[in-house]
Amino acid sequence: MQKGIRDCLKRLEAHDRLLTVTKEVDPKLEISAVMRAAEKQDTAILFKNVKGSTFQVVNNIVGSRRMAALFLETAPEAVTREWLTRSKNPIDPVLVSTSPAKSIVQTASSVDLRRLPMVTHCDKDAGPFITAGLVVAKDPDTGARNVSVNRMQYKGQNRLGIRMMPPQHLGIIHQKCEQQGKALEVAVAIGSHPLDILAAATSLPLGQDEFALAGALRKEPLELVACETVDVEVPATAEIIIEGEVLPGVREPEGPFGDFMQYYVPVMDNHVFVVKAITHRPDPVYQTIQAGSLEDTHYLALSREAVILQAVSTIAEVTAISLVPTIMGCVIGINKRTEGEAGKVAEAAMDSYTWLKYCVVVDHDVDVFDMNDVWWAMATRSCPGKGLRIKGDAPGFPRDPFNIHQSKLAIDATAPLDQWAAFERKKVSGAEGLRLSDYL
Ligand code: MN
Repeated sequence: MQKGIRDCLKRLEAHDRLLTVTKEVDPKLEISAVMRAAEKQDTAILFKNVKGSTFQVVNNIVGSRRMAALFLETAPEAVTREWLTRSKNPIDPVLVSTSPAKSIVQTASSVDLRRLPMVTHCDKDAGPFITAGLVVAKDPDTGARNVSVNRMQYKGQNRLGIRMMPPQHLGIIHQKCEQQGKALEVAVAIGSHPLDILAAATSLPLGQDEFALAGALRKEPLELVACETVDVEVPATAEIIIEGEVLPGVREPEGPFGDFMQYYVPVMDNHVFVVKAITHRPDPVYQTIQAGSLEDTHYLALSREAVILQAVSTIAEVTAISLVPTIMGCVIGINKRTEGEAGKVAEAAMDSYTWLKYCVVVDHDVDVFDMNDVWWAMATRSCPGKGLRIKGDAPGFPRDPFNIHQSKLAIDATAPLDQWAAFERKKVSGAEGLRLSDYL
């Protein structure tokens, strides 16, 4: 098991999934542009020389299922099942006394967020945003810990805008503090193991510690360390820790920001985070996630795929499942046993996960991770006249000003059960693993 992001980078490198850039790059748009090229090559990318900062920048460490599989130590097609199995055994975190992230400590007036290589991701973004921070806070009533990933807009030397509206747990917790007239203490860990980010991106019931889920995914307790200025604990493996308070009764314009659906969310009145301390390693690796990228989608998808898999497994033999690349469309592969099974599978999937808008069910011989293959199955096996199910008024993604996410469509793209011989895919023996260079 890799403890922190540094070990993860070594693992990626050993599997030829890490590119290193030594040329100077600008965190304003240039890093974001280069990241997009790395995404197409299915590699993480480490920027060693970032304009205006001594920190390195890393991105796209889970840009594909193949990369997620490296950290869950399983095959790419088994990632969701492995996630589901591991998630059933939460392991509480343990407290350790110190962390390399305490090497450099800045407090009070020496705090300066501008030392961080915060990235401006898109043309119309309001400015640089922190997008890969694990935000840790405690419920003022119960003391229960909450961990989430929230975007934060740079606003000044010690000031960040933070998007954390209820029903998101962090927003609910802040609301409780606000009603008591006090600020919410928070700490943000940057430079995280992808399994910790996956845990933080999971919708658990309020009061359940996402770090215990991180322990489940890691199969060992996550090590936490206390903060310097707030009563919060953060992963000891973090590269950078930002500590401070989210103010009560204060909202300021935040945004626009190019969000996960690839659209700009408009300027909104959002919370304000005043930074009291920044601590970091001597040579920190600053992590960033591009909203709407394949990395972002994988972080959002895996826990939701696990929810669907759990629900669907009771009625069908599921071979593979994918919510990538949009998390609102799902492809499920099954070993079909009865006619009509696909419809039941789609129904159960839509009931288990509200945001699901499209569900395509395919046979086991279709690659659910390859949209070309899924289209092939739809074109050659589905019959729109009888294989479609439309749900008119069904709740979906809630932020929906144009009312386009509140209905659902299921497509049965499986072959007729008693006609399998006619639908057998053609094969060429020897084609798999063939190297063209051997013939040139
Ligand atoms: Mn939570």
